[in-house]
Amino acid sequence: MSQHAYQKCINIDCGAEFDCSQVIVKCPQCGDLLDVKYHWDKIELPEKLSDFGNRWATRNNRLDFSGVWRFRDLLNFCDDQYKVSVGEGQTLLQQCCGLAQDLGMNPNSLFLQYEGMNPSGSFKDNGMTAAFSHAKMVGAVASACASTGNTSASMALYAHSCGLKATVFIGEGKIAFGKLSQSMDFGGHTIQVAGDFDDCMRQVQDVCAELNIYLVNSLNPFRLEGQKTIMLRILEGLGWEVPDWIVVPGGNLGNSSSFGKAFAELKEIGLIDRIPRLAVINATGANTLTELVNDKGLKWNGGAYDQQIIDTYYANLDATGYRPETIASAIEISRPVNLKKCLRALEVCNGVVLDVTDEEILDAKAQVGRYGLGCEPASAASIAGLKHLLANGTVGKDERVACVLTGHQLKDPDATVNYHSKMARAFSNPPVQVENDLQKIIDLLK
Ligand SMILES: *Cc1c(COP(=O)(O)O)cnc(C)c1O
Ligand SMILES: [Zn+2]
Repeated sequence: MSQHAYQKCINIDCGAEFDCSQVIVKCPQCGDLLDVKYHWDKIELPEKLSDFGNRWATRNNRLDFSGVWRFRDLLNFCDDQYKVSVGEGQTLLQQCCGLAQDLGMNPNSLFLQYEGMNPSGSFKDNGMTAAFSHAKMVGAVASACASTGNTSASMALYAHSCGLKATVFIGEGKIAFGKLSQSMDFGGHTIQVAGDFDDCMRQVQDVCAELNIYLVNSLNPFRLEGQKTIMLRILEGLGWEVPDWIVVPGGNLGNSSSFGKAFAELKEIGLIDRIPRLAVINATGANTLTELVNDKGLKWNGGAYDQQIIDTYYANLDATGYRPETIASAIEISRPVNLKKCLRALEVCNGVVLDVTDEEILDAKAQVGRYGLGCEPASAASIAGLKHLLANGTVGKDERVACVLTGHQLKDPDATVNYHSKMARAFSNPPVQVENDLQKIIDLLK
């Protein structure tokens, strides 16, 4: 076990600390979220970020090959022998001049971080490789998660690759088939609960505590450690320069939380000198974060946030029987478990929050597709959100923006086909019917 890391409660009035060998996804003393923290002074860190790039030369070493473990000094919580890898994080930061121009930006200033290229087709693999390494370190034999789809696909893949059992909790009719098919193929044990994601999230926590199963949802602080490396790869893609903006869809808010943590740590250890701004984009049909931050004025406030605002909001969701509803199933979550960490990330990154409609999401998805980087609906929320931020002047057209495309196009082909089959959509591209007749086909194509 690493002597350099420990777990610490994020509640400033508690701050309890625990060894990394303990499997606890919430503070046993106050119930709040946990962070993985490091004794940076005891860790041998590279002098500059570009030193990480030297590991490309030694990629025969499986850890140097991994786009997560290439940065292992920054997530030094377990010994190498426990580290699990299936070659995650071979992802690209792609400059997208055409889309930038469509959005009225300087053509050189828009970058898409395509996390769909991960082994299971979404960014979740970045976190899962870290969570399963921790699971191996503590000797876990079974894993579980609640999932809108991608977490289960990723969990089942990693569990299978390192010999753990995997149980998936999904809500009724709330999962894209591309994702469900993966966890079935990877041998995941799928439990369909008569409820939605938030119900599954509640059940799985109790089940894991009762049966001593390792929980891999993003409540798990080790998962977020792996997801920090998405930001490192964006910096790498920009020649180790910091962009002006990171734009990411927000569901359970694990990604946005881990991005804020990454930048806070890099600044603290002196590997970057400025922190980019962060924009977290909700779907209108699942916009808890947007309502809490923009309408109710909720802020991290150095940790002294107003719990009353959160309690009142959730009590109202309960009272009205509210159910989130969006085509972007990966972010169809009304009780984001990482809410407080995300508030902290927004403070660290001087961040903004907004929501976009399903129609805006689908149009943005089709636009991204036109430039050859397909993505699933939730991912396109980042582009749809960027349009708003450009229109209201929050993001300048010359600012360098990196949008995270969180999942692969083929995760949810139903959404894509439905969109394109309807002529009325802004970017739809339906198939054209023609008789089985050579001349008629030629006439059509002339
Ligand atoms: C999980 C997921 C999200 C949401 O990420 P959070 O960390 O839960 O906010 C967004 N897009 C895709 C494709 C996902 O799989
Ligand atoms: Zn605590």
